[in-house]
Amino acid sequence: MPSPGSRQWFENEHAVDWSVAKARGYHRWKTGDEFKSFTANVLGMTGTFRHNIAAQSPQGVIIPRSLGGKRDPVLGVYTPEFRPDVAVRTKGNLRFWHTHPTLAATTKSGNPKWPRDGIGRPLPPSAVHLAEHMSRHIARDKHPGDHAGVNVEVPHAHLGDPGKYLFVPGPGAKAFDVHPFMLERLGTCKRLFVGMEGCIKGDSMTTEVLSSDEFSDTAVISCASVTLHHAPLFEYFAACLLWGVEHHPDIASIQRRTQEVQVFLVPDADAFSKDEVRHQCMLFSMRMAQYFPNTFVAAPPPCTPGFGMHDNCLAGDKCKANGVDDFRAFGASLLDMRVLHRSFPTEAFNEWYARRAVEKNKRGRWQEGLAAEANLLSGMIWCADPDHKYRGHISALARVGRGSRSKVYEAAHRLIACGAITPDRPLDLIQRQYKRKDGTWITPFDFEDPPEFTLAPRLACPPDYFRLLKEIPPMLTLEDRVARLEESDARRTALEETDDQEILDDMLSDEQRHQDRPA
Ligand SMILES: [Zn+2]
Ligand SMILES: [Zn+2]
Ligand SMILES: [Zn+2]
Repeated sequence: MPSPGSRQWFENEHAVDWSVAKARGYHRWKTGDEFKSFTANVLGMTGTFRHNIAAQSPQGVIIPRSLGGKRDPVLGVYTPEFRPDVAVRTKGNLRFWHTHPTLAATTKSGNPKWPRDGIGRPLPPSAVHLAEHMSRHIARDKHPGDHAGVNVEVPHAHLGDPGKYLFVPGPGAKAFDVHPFMLERLGTCKRLFVGMEGCIKGDSMTTEVLSSDEFSDTAVISCASVTLHHAPLFEYFAACLLWGVEHHPDIASIQRRTQEVQVFLVPDADAFSKDEVRHQCMLFSMRMAQYFPNTFVAAPPPCTPGFGMHDNCLAGDKCKANGVDDFRAFGASLLDMRVLHRSFPTEAFNEWYARRAVEKNKRGRWQEGLAAEANLLSGMIWCADPDHKYRGHISALARVGRGSRSKVYEAAHRLIACGAITPDRPLDLIQRQYKRKDGTWITPFDFEDPPEFTLAPRLACPPDYFRLLKEIPPMLTLEDRVARLEESDARRTALEETDDQEILDDMLSDEQRHQDRPA
């Protein structure tokens, strides 16, 4: 095995060209102290975080992130990604004290019996749960320190899960990264790949995009994780990256640009087989489509244990070649990725919307919450699993749709009442929320164990289907369309002219024939 960060490692295992790797400036730490000194000036990095990495993995690779080698001109924040050779457990989660007793001692947050953290501060209501609502969390037995089926009745905290890719907490990790070789293409590209699993996979795509004529109109950016669809910097980066960082064109050209660019979100190969990953991708695509309507999700084909590049994979185990970089290292092309096609049931949705508006109008409540209902329902439809059930958090839809959480929860109740969705457990259990005003307790809804909602059959998306990336035609720009129209106009005119000419020729030759006729 080549050592991480070496030329061989980049080229053979991740299909990243050495020039691409050098331009980013990956560098290796060889001792814990080296790591500490290399990261001494990283913004927002705590001593504990630094120490945890240095102590648990004395070697690793630092992955600088940036806007094409520059700091972001407005926010100025970018923090590196770390890839320790050994997976590291950071203690970040030890700050998140929470409790999930079988029976609640009190329902009032002001009460002296209200649960407190290790140094005596009262827990926020969002960290106080009942055991019955935390069954998944209590059952988990994945890493040391998990409850493994035995509940802890008093407040406590857990270690973070071991991670091979680490980010400094804060906004610097949520920004999209742009490789220096890709910056110039952003303003003009017709196709954009958004790597969703960090810089190395992004650089693997950059390598192919640079090496093939097929991709002369393509650019690549990447983000740290598929779960960043709520990132606060999203708007800023989605916008300024594509329209050129240096200049700000007018609204009309921005609109044209958003129409002509095809965006492909690129997760790992398990995106289409694991409900949870696909769910995150669909949320991400919803957010991206608010700016770029032609947004798709494209991933390498799923794992086939024991065959081809999945020779070493075992059925039921974690795939060993899940990333787009593995796919490329095996010799495959981005053009062979599979693109998910999901069609929104527009007609049924509009019908529902119209009927709902009429109902509300009858009761003299024309606009009351209709927008919140429509946003929530369309999000649930788009992000539902293939069995027509929405299994995610409702708060995620609130964040992606930029609605308020309480409005979205209320809308959920009205959607249930009107029959658009059906929850898998009684409503009153789901409904209980913390109300600061009267001090009532419990926010079970939507934490570790959210309820499932089944969509009314007519409101579900038809079954997904897949196409290869190379089968997807490029978008036509406005100029392309005008050029096509002009071309067909010109052809018609030319045709008409020839017709006229032929008739004229006929007439002439007729006359000539007459004239030629001997008198
Ligand atoms: Zn817990
Ligand atoms: Zn716990
Ligand atoms: Zn595999």
